[in-house]
Amino acid sequence: MSIDMHIHSYYSDGAYLPEEVISLAAKNGVSTLAITDHDTLLGIQYLYKNSKFVLPDMEIIPGIEITGKVFKGSMHILGYGLDIYNEDLINAMKKQREKRIASLIAICDYLKKNNNIYFSSEEINEIIFSERSIGRPDLAKLLIKHENVETVSEAFSKYLRKAYEMTREEVEKGLPYQECFELIKNAGGIPVLAHPKTLELDEIEFLKLLKEMISCGLMGMEVYHSIHTPTDIQYYLNIASDYGLLVSGGSDFHGETVKPNIQLGVTGRNKNIVLDNLSLVDELHNGLYKILKKNNSYFN
Ligand code: AMP
Ligand code: FE
Ligand code: FE
Ligand code: ZN
Repeated sequence: MSIDMHIHSYYSDGAYLPEEVISLAAKNGVSTLAITDHDTLLGIQYLYKNSKFVLPDMEIIPGIEITGKVFKGSMHILGYGLDIYNEDLINAMKKQREKRIASLIAICDYLKKNNNIYFSSEEINEIIFSERSIGRPDLAKLLIKHENVETVSEAFSKYLRKAYEMTREEVEKGLPYQECFELIKNAGGIPVLAHPKTLELDEIEFLKLLKEMISCGLMGMEVYHSIHTPTDIQYYLNIASDYGLLVSGGSDFHGETVKPNIQLGVTGRNKNIVLDNLSLVDELHNGLYKILKKNNSYFN
């Protein structure tokens, strides 16, 4: 049985409802998993409210992927084993939602001015008023619907990456990493740097940032990820060991319609790495999460 610590559901930009994620995990032999939606706990809260969906021999670790504030590349901070009803975290994610709305509107304005692409207010409102954590994948779906592109990845490469780059200074939707760590830790969770490769930093810049992050409370790094090559994995494993970081990993599964070729439970770019052991999971089992679980604070 295997582990997948990075999965998205319908509640952010995933194609599947949490219960569908669970069925897929069971089918793929995954026994420990974390739902890590972007800037929202709704998916995992939904699952805990509907505990009938949770299979008895499957462990669901509460998680989140918070968008960090950077002006180049992307920084995502994963949080694991946290209290999904923590008020400060919930309030901070409500603010993230406001920023996501502002960013989405800025991107729509950019597409209108620069690409002559118009979405109706009904189409935009449908996205904005949904309860999910919204983002560029919602606009990718509109671009497909309007036949501007055929796939989500084409929507990103042709329009959304540029539109985001051009608007992000004005409406940056991330939270400084110090705040991400504080929110996660105050909710009893473990902060982990997601897919470090997307920071797009050279080695010197990366190590400098990592040291600063560790001094601010970073505890782990996502070494195994579906965009990391075997060389990347070895590189990040060495760094995690040198800096005493917990090792994590996951597929970053979103579903075939959003990110094709990424399978739940299968990590690694060459699609043949199945994780059965991670120091992050051991730490979760030995720490606070275990206590919360034993006291039945989650499923009831
Ligand atoms: P946002 O949250 O608005 O910054 O959008 C980022 C999300 O879009 C990521 O979490 C990915 O799921 C998705 N995404 C980014 N680039 C691509 C791509 N090239 N193809 C498909 N999905 C992408
Ligand atoms: Fe995503
Ligand atoms: Fe991410
Ligand atoms: Zn992710």
